[in-house]
Amino acid sequence: MKDKNDFPMKDKNIVYFDNAATTFKPYRVINKINEYYLDYNANSHRGDYDISFKVDDEIDYTRDLVKMFINAKRKDEIIFTKNTTESLNIIAFGFFLNYLNDGDEIILSSSEHASNILPWLILSAKKKIKIVFVDSKDEKLNIEDIKEKITSKTRLISIAEITNVSGDKRDIKTICKLAHKCGILVVVDAAQSAPHIKIDVQDTGVDFIAFSAHKMCGPTGVGVLYGKMELLKKMVPYTFGGGMNENYNEEHLELVEIPYRFESGTPNIADIIGFSEAIKFLNEIGMDTIERKEKYLRKYLIDELEKIPYIKIYNKNNEGSTVIINIDGIMSGDLGLYLNTKGICVRSGKHCAKMGDNKEDTVRISLYFYNTYEEIDILIDALKNKQEIYNFAGI
Ligand SMILES: *Cc1c(COP(=O)(O)O)cnc(C)c1O
Repeated sequence: MKDKNDFPMKDKNIVYFDNAATTFKPYRVINKINEYYLDYNANSHRGDYDISFKVDDEIDYTRDLVKMFINAKRKDEIIFTKNTTESLNIIAFGFFLNYLNDGDEIILSSSEHASNILPWLILSAKKKIKIVFVDSKDEKLNIEDIKEKITSKTRLISIAEITNVSGDKRDIKTICKLAHKCGILVVVDAAQSAPHIKIDVQDTGVDFIAFSAHKMCGPTGVGVLYGKMELLKKMVPYTFGGGMNENYNEEHLELVEIPYRFESGTPNIADIIGFSEAIKFLNEIGMDTIERKEKYLRKYLIDELEKIPYIKIYNKNNEGSTVIINIDGIMSGDLGLYLNTKGICVRSGKHCAKMGDNKEDTVRISLYFYNTYEEIDILIDALKNKQEIYNFAGI
């Protein structure tokens, strides 16, 4: 296992448990970004000179690493975007806006991130699409409940592999099998799964996935959109401009090959190049090791939290790397601010998942493999200061 010396942010005397929002970046990612600016700063696809060729090679290399990381069949099925949100929007408006007809139905879960709900709500307004929500009872989605919602009109299931609040892990392979039998496509929001577990798009058979580099030790400003080639061929670009056209006049626009037609304009070159080091870093540790380490950390955290009688844990039985809690009578925002006074970073509120009326605000502790048992002890010690917490909250 890599140690804390890999991360500059690990020297800062803070305990960082907001990894579901973004993760720390190792030195090697930061150095790789700097290397581009220091040594071969040039645009991509534009030059006839060595440093520009180098840029194209590096971007191509990252694309190859992403392809292998998710076991895609082809490198050109990997499209670079800004983030998960942009990937999901491109999927919704570049593909499904044309693919869906009035009266069609989309199934979403009620615990999706806003980025996997709002694009579909906007699309449903444009096209008279019906959105059907499946609920996650006790923070866990039941496949039987999805089955019940499927009708002859269902054309799409769009769902997170692991949810960002309660860490509900969905069996994507089974969902894809069920969906494909009925001619339904499956979009997976992998923002919380790609950083934590092995993704294999050929094994699951998923049609589209979206994730962000910044939640997996990579830079901000880089997202991935994967789609099966036969579907990408039917997708239309969402932005138009330089680098995506072969020839054009007033009547006719000839697009360049996939994936470049979906990447018009100058890409986020430095960060795409930096992302390669994040993938290599995760690969060197191994996704199995990451998953196992986080499982142990989470078990330890839950065991210790359970010893504190006034703490309510909401998602003990889930598998993701988040634990959501509350203290009786304390607003989650106050608890978050109290922990901040101890140098502990957590997130409170609804965590961008606002659908469903009964969702309470919670404090989310989200782990990544570089967290330690010692950091959990610091959190537990802080949470044991019951009187201090109540005083802080003015109760
Ligand atoms: C973070 C997150 C997103 C959005 O990711 P961005 O990088 O902010 O676009 C979408 N879905 C889930 C499940 C997330 O955790």
